[in-house]
Amino acid sequence: MTADSRPHPTPPDGRPADGTASSDASGAERWEGILVVVEQHDGEPRPVSWQLLGQARRMAARLPGCPVMALVMGHQVRHVAQQAIAYGADVVLLADHPALGVYRTQPYSDVTLHVIRTHRPEIVLIGATYTGRDLAGAIATRVPTGLTADCTMLDVEPPPSRLLQASRPAFSEKLMATILCKRHRPQMATARPGVFEALEPDPSRPGEIRELAVTLDESRVAARVVRIERQTRTVRLDEARVIVAGGRGLGGPHGFRLLGELAEALGGVVGASRPAVEAGWIGHEHQIGQTGQTVRPKLYVACGISGAVQHLVGMSGSEVIVAIDKDPQAPILQAADVAIVGDLYEVVPALIQEARAGRGTLVAAAKEDGRR
Ligand SMILES: Cc1cc2nc3c(=O)[nH]c(=O)nc-3n(C[C@H](O)[C@H](O)[C@H](O)COP(=O)(O)OP(=O)(O)OC[C@H]3O[C@@H](n4cnc5c(N)ncnc54)[C@H](O)[C@@H]3O)c2cc1C
Repeated sequence: MTADSRPHPTPPDGRPADGTASSDASGAERWEGILVVVEQHDGEPRPVSWQLLGQARRMAARLPGCPVMALVMGHQVRHVAQQAIAYGADVVLLADHPALGVYRTQPYSDVTLHVIRTHRPEIVLIGATYTGRDLAGAIATRVPTGLTADCTMLDVEPPPSRLLQASRPAFSEKLMATILCKRHRPQMATARPGVFEALEPDPSRPGEIRELAVTLDESRVAARVVRIERQTRTVRLDEARVIVAGGRGLGGPHGFRLLGELAEALGGVVGASRPAVEAGWIGHEHQIGQTGQTVRPKLYVACGISGAVQHLVGMSGSEVIVAIDKDPQAPILQAADVAIVGDLYEVVPALIQEARAGRGTLVAAAKEDGRR
């Protein structure tokens, strides 16, 4: 496969297209700009892409003249490229081809690798989703360069070092490690969905879309997509506007049925603290916190969750936090906008009734137009 927005497919530095040349950061060849790989499925972009573009813009502000680029791959995805500009990209590289309609490691990494070699971004950011993790690993080994996976913080040192500070929990999540990639370019990181805030989209923002000429030799692609089975029960915590979360205070799995009713009445989904997951009351995909997911819903309702720091770190970016706990000293009540001291088995049924009737504080908070 070749993919190039320029007249000649050979990279401008004259290196072979298979990328056998070194990726060192000695400065002999300039690496400049931040590239965000935008993830979409069936033309539907994942919010983590816009969150990464927002963070890329914030970091670019510390690097004078640093462009923010977005790479959009897929089939019939020009609208995603337009959105990428609205969310902060200066330049969008668009690879639109039927062979990119469904994610496969090889064609997606071929295109991304080609873009890295031709456009030479100093930083490449990818969402730490299932496909993002797969793609990032495949690229980093082929460039070759370092990859800091699953970051929860990203920053950049100002010139002259321009080093990406990629931070993530380490040593069984007991420490935060900040990892630098000093000798190779690009500096690559994947980042968890929900940890960064997207910019408010501005459809009038100027930007340029450059179409990449993609030719694909299907006979060279090892994976064939035979059938796609959609998972209907996957919980998308990172994209939810409303989350009703339960902890050890539920006392058993039955409590999640009650929370499910409240979540449904509010148009939301169910989350959980780690002990509830570890007790087997609910699946791991619902866990919020340091070792779970980071979320930023409009409304977060915490039920029987004490508010340990490892939980707070995953949900404190929520717009409105409502907490129900029978212990008036529970830390979650301090972190909440609305603190309800009481037994959740008395409070939640009353909230369900209100929500079903379309009234009450929760309904108002869930409806209000705010940041997201
Ligand atoms: C390295 C590491 C990583 C971790 N990662 C995570 C993580 O990702 N996510 C996470 O959540 N935790 C994580 N933890 C665990 C964290 O430290 C806490 O132990 C955990 O968050 C506590 O869960 P909880 O609030 O559900 O339980 P508890 O702390 O036991 O709190 C239960 C609360 O429910 C209240 N309650 C009891 N019954 C009722 C009732 N009927 N009505 C109302 N309130 C009631 C109690 O007053 C109490 O405040 C991690 C810990 C470590 C060491």
